[in-house]
Amino acid sequence: MTPKQVLQFIKQNKIEFIDCRFMDFPGLWQHITFPVSELKEDSFDHGFGFDGSAIRGWQAINESDMLIVPVADTAHLDPFLQFPTLGLICDIKDPVTKKEYSRDPRSIGRKAQDYLKHSKIADHAMFGPELEFFIFDNAWYDQGVNSAHYRVDSAEGIWNRGKQDPTNLGYQVRQREGYFPMPPMDTMTDLRSEMVSEMIKLGIPVEGHHHEVATGGQAEIDLRYQGLLKMADTCMLYKYVVKNVAARHGKVATFMPKPLFQDNGSGMHTHFSMWKGNKPLFAGPRYAGLSQLGLYAIGGLLKHARSLLAFTNPTTNSFKRLVPGYEAPVHLVYSSRNRSTAIRIPVYSDNPESRRIEFRCPDASCNPYLAFAAMTMAAIDGIKNKIDPGDPIDKDLYELEPEEYESIDAAPVELSEALDALAADHDYLLEGGVFTEDVIHYWIKYKRENEVAALRQRPHPFEFCMYFDI
Ligand code: GLN
Ligand code: MG
Ligand code: MG
Ligand code: MG
Repeated sequence: MTPKQVLQFIKQNKIEFIDCRFMDFPGLWQHITFPVSELKEDSFDHGFGFDGSAIRGWQAINESDMLIVPVADTAHLDPFLQFPTLGLICDIKDPVTKKEYSRDPRSIGRKAQDYLKHSKIADHAMFGPELEFFIFDNAWYDQGVNSAHYRVDSAEGIWNRGKQDPTNLGYQVRQREGYFPMPPMDTMTDLRSEMVSEMIKLGIPVEGHHHEVATGGQAEIDLRYQGLLKMADTCMLYKYVVKNVAARHGKVATFMPKPLFQDNGSGMHTHFSMWKGNKPLFAGPRYAGLSQLGLYAIGGLLKHARSLLAFTNPTTNSFKRLVPGYEAPVHLVYSSRNRSTAIRIPVYSDNPESRRIEFRCPDASCNPYLAFAAMTMAAIDGIKNKIDPGDPIDKDLYELEPEEYESIDAAPVELSEALDALAADHDYLLEGGVFTEDVIHYWIKYKRENEVAALRQRPHPFEFCMYFDI
């Protein structure tokens, strides 16, 4: 929609409010609501003023006045609010210079998109993320100063009995056998269908949905691929729909990567390809139907993977997913088909247009604008510098002999390691001014202080198990 069309739509549909949604630094949507009378055609240029100092990750700026500027073609009718409301995704700008705010993730995504185009390597990249999540019956957690307890409702390992009698232990999805039994084992089919139905009404291109591997409630809804900025916007709308449909039914949905010990975690495998017009640039005569350019892109992603993970797997919990045995990658190598590698080349089809690489590390706790931008930059670096990705590894990496194991690069085992890697290796992100030194520096600082140190300082529930009787 154009600004004019948005205003017409508001009139025709008797919309009362516009809800301006924007991405904060760590990766959650924030919003501010205005009566429609406040929205003029020039609001799409001038935006609305707000205090940026109270937003996570942005408070360091001295100038706290900022502009929130709605983007007309992101307009969507909100399916959850009681009053007729039009949602608008927004950019953040500086009121003095009128320039995009350098810590606005959406601006970083746009810069990466433009940089790829100006590099002449490709016109655009396409992203197909597979967001996985859990639906739980109920959850609460207590963030008291001294306590680190949390509880997810249901007996250990048995979740989401749905409409069943909670004492009935029949028809339970067994641990790691959720892929994919029929109802009544799968009690979530209608809930996922309702999520998909809301997504389709919002114009989100959905390909299908299914129960995921983990015990009752883990889910995946698959999206058709889109360009960087559009797909990052879509991811945020996707999460909004998933959480709100779950809430509508008294349930909770979480994208936390590893909520259950000893069961599969939730990833966000990201299918990635580059295009010139209609020409798929990753398709060619090399390994698994890839082009040389595709192999160089893999070279870039693998070379920078340890630092890249600071954006694609940016929470302390992310690294509890990247352990052997749960279809999540642990080793920084590539293969066609092998699901234990960081990069897989899917071979479902011979069609060159479906030739892509699947980066399996990311999870949905990431900020998708930053994650997709960082992936794009690593791939560009690989292509520009002709980085050889080495040989593929087609064995199951979980079964390697210890000597073989040691010769292969491993993913970081905790967030602090990925942040250290980012501190040491980020020149590839600064190319073309896409990420700035300030963004890299502040990301590391924010994550170290607010997440790594915050967790390290708290007694952990498992420490009670190990040490209470000491
Ligand atoms: N949940 C797995 C992961 O963490 C992926 C499982 C799958 O999609 N086959 O990456
Ligand atoms: Mg999938
Ligand atoms: Mg999956
Ligand atoms: Mg996958």
